[in-house]
Amino acid sequence: KSNLNPRYKFSNFVVGPNNQLTYAASYAVAESLGKAYNPLFIYGGVGLGKTHILHAIGNHIKEKSSKIKVLYISSEEFTNELINSIQYKKMTQFRNKFRELDCLLIDDIQFISKKERTEEEFFHTFNTLYENQKQIVITSDKPPSDIREIEERLKSRFSWGLIVDIQPPELETRIAIIKKKAENYNLSLTDDIVEFLAKNFESNVREIEGIIVKINAYSSLFKQKIDIEFVETILQDVIERKQNTLNIENIQEVVAKHFNITKDTMLSGKRDKHIILPREIAIFLSRKLTQHSLSEIKTKFNMKSHATIINACSKIEKEIEKSPQLKEIIEKIEKNIKNV
Ligand code: ADP
Ligand code: MG
Repeated sequence: KSNLNPRYKFSNFVVGPNNQLTYAASYAVAESLGKAYNPLFIYGGVGLGKTHILHAIGNHIKEKSSKIKVLYISSEEFTNELINSIQYKKMTQFRNKFRELDCLLIDDIQFISKKERTEEEFFHTFNTLYENQKQIVITSDKPPSDIREIEERLKSRFSWGLIVDIQPPELETRIAIIKKKAENYNLSLTDDIVEFLAKNFESNVREIEGIIVKINAYSSLFKQKIDIEFVETILQDVIERKQNTLNIENIQEVVAKHFNITKDTMLSGKRDKHIILPREIAIFLSRKLTQHSLSEIKTKFNMKSHATIINACSKIEKEIEKSPQLKEIIEKIEKNIKNV
């Protein structure tokens, strides 16, 4: 059993500048197991196609030869199977299952952090496969260096081969993805609808797919003709929810709350250290998460000049580089803002 989802293939993975390198490296790996890049480490944000590409590698290998032993598994399932094997005294079987593979595709490796026994077991699995020149492909939401609380010896192994990333898709790629997904559902969308969707759903391909499923359901259940007004209406709640959260006021609100100060205090212009940092983080996130111009952001933060905004942003960017703690705090706030 390979655990492969036949829906996820290279042929229906839309390639753009955001994922080109990952696509090429994955394809190369699938073509010559253990010889191109080993391990291949793929990282990127939620819903950007990491799981898709892992299955695509597996399916490609299987198509070439059904004899090749490939396994897709998430790191959580790996942990579960390990626990089971310990409980039922089946460790030998567990070890053999993984160590006899030609290709191990392991998804969301960040979840093995802080799980000592899993890390230990994965370490040995990795070593055995690697020594036998068997292919290992790993995905994660962040690069190896940023995965916290995971053993150094694992981190360093993750960097032995090639590390590639998937970025959020640009407008053109989003348009191509929407068209492809619509095609899959036999749904025909006019150009203005495609563009409307591409502009409203920026950072997460899974979200785009959900919307297409929704449009498809409405159109077939109600035998509705799909025009732009129709799409706008059925998506209103989704879009409103996004606009409600991704605005400067909400960003200020969430950041202030995180630091246990009031929004007014944060915006008061006081120079205390414990007020400056939250303010700068809020500015940084407003710049990052909204489309507002510098002068709009300046106004909302009661600032006198654009330079203050730019300085705050570059300061935070630099601090993030230096401090994993700060980086983690900001990531957490960002998740709160987006309600995820
Ligand atoms: P991740 O594992 O990175 O969170 P997934 O692989 O689960 O993301 O992708 C979420 C959804 O978006 C899937 O249905 C996947 O098919 C789709 N998807 C993501 N990127 C692409 C792409 N470049 N082309 C086609 N579909 C994509
Ligand atoms: Mg995934």
